Amino acid sequence: MAAVEAMVALRDLAGDRLEVEVHAPRQGFVYRPLAVGEPFFPGGLIEFDLEDLAARAGATFCLDSVTGVDPDNHHVSTPDRDEVPYDYLLICPGAKMLAAVSGAETFWGVSEEGGVAETIGRLRAGDLHRLAFTIPASGWPLPIYELALLAEAELSRLGSRAGTILTIVTPEDLPLGVFGTQVGERVGELLSERGIELVTGSHAIKFSDGLLQITPGRPIETEAVISTPGIEGRQIGGLPKDPSGFIPVDEFSRVVGLDRVYAAGDVTAFPVKQGGIATQQADVAAEAIAAAVGVDLAPRPFDPVLRATLWTGEKPQYLYGKLSGGFGETSVFSDHALWEHEGKIAGRYLAPFLNGIPGEAGPGTRAGPQPRVAAG
Ligand SMILES: Cc1cc2nc3c(=O)[nH]c(=O)nc-3n(C[C@H](O)[C@H](O)[C@H](O)COP(=O)(O)OP(=O)(O)OC[C@H]3O[C@@H](n4cnc5c(N)ncnc54)[C@H](O)[C@@H]3O)c2cc1C
Repeated sequence: MAAVEAMVALRDLAGDRLEVEVHAPRQGFVYRPLAVGEPFFPGGLIEFDLEDLAARAGATFCLDSVTGVDPDNHHVSTPDRDEVPYDYLLICPGAKMLAAVSGAETFWGVSEEGGVAETIGRLRAGDLHRLAFTIPASGWPLPIYELALLAEAELSRLGSRAGTILTIVTPEDLPLGVFGTQVGERVGELLSERGIELVTGSHAIKFSDGLLQITPGRPIETEAVISTPGIEGRQIGGLPKDPSGFIPVDEFSRVVGLDRVYAAGDVTAFPVKQGGIATQQADVAAEAIAAAVGVDLAPRPFDPVLRATLWTGEKPQYLYGKLSGGFGETSVFSDHALWEHEGKIAGRYLAPFLNGIPGEAGPGTRAGPQPRVAAG
């Protein structure tokens, strides 16, 4: 997310002053936020071709991974080349995802969610009557709420809602409280209206023999568990990291202590790991790099704002939270879009850029209108 946003932003801001190279170990770019629809409406997930996206943004795509950085000599190493030179480097390899709850099905946000799809299939078929959804302490919590709401809507549509217990276990004090109090309270009301049980302030540990162990709290009886993954930082030599492996950056996305090296997205030490935040950090880095190569602009510091579309199986809800000056001080929960571009990740450049490009899901399929699929 951060890399695609940055390459489009750099093209717009710096034009031909910069040659942009994008390195990634996979050519496919899965638009992960749409994955929550897959267990319910298969075929909606979109995969873009990074080489094609890079070409459209005037950049070059290299199919390899960065294994180390030599910031003194301004080059990176890849598995095949020891010294790939750079003038400016933007590191955005995301986070490493890990299964968080033993015995649970992990929802990875990829196209083939075998275990999760099978679990939802059993729910649909009436073979499951208790299903728990869990959120680890790290990572983006929103997909679990969407999965639970979509499951509830599906059961209601099938006329088999009665007698099924859906429970969400989260370490958050309020559901999606990272946006702020208003959003947290409204999401709580929504879950209650839909009869979804909520256990806050608790961590899921493991699921076995029909019991989900949580702490603090008493075990929860359930027949299956779906969890989002936990995350940790990626190991790239030559870069500073905090105790969890994430890279510290300043308000201009500069890697602390290094010259001409920037980082954006889940790999950074900023505590909220979300696609929209990743694109905002990428924009900050792009402005700083553009200014450094002589573009006449005053780079703006990171001023994080959370925007998200929550699929509910009914009308989507739009969530907004301003993070600067205290987490989630101001938040809004609305059934009207609160920002300009459609698309689950409201990146300034990413959303309009991807909206014009067909992904692999089929000609004419776009990132933007997808929420209507889920809402339907
Ligand atoms: C199931 C799920 C659903 C989500 N839903 C949403 C949502 O609805 N809205 C939202 O805003 N966020 C959502 N998120 C979070 C969002 O996906 C991440 O916050 C976002 O993708 C982070 O962007 P990024 O650019 O930092 O990393 P990524 O998007 O993970 O991209 C990292 C890229 O770097 C590449 N890479 C990895 N290692 C290397 C290396 N060594 N060298 C070079 N390249 C490398 C990877 O192949 C990948 O292409 C969701 C996450 C999950 C798991």
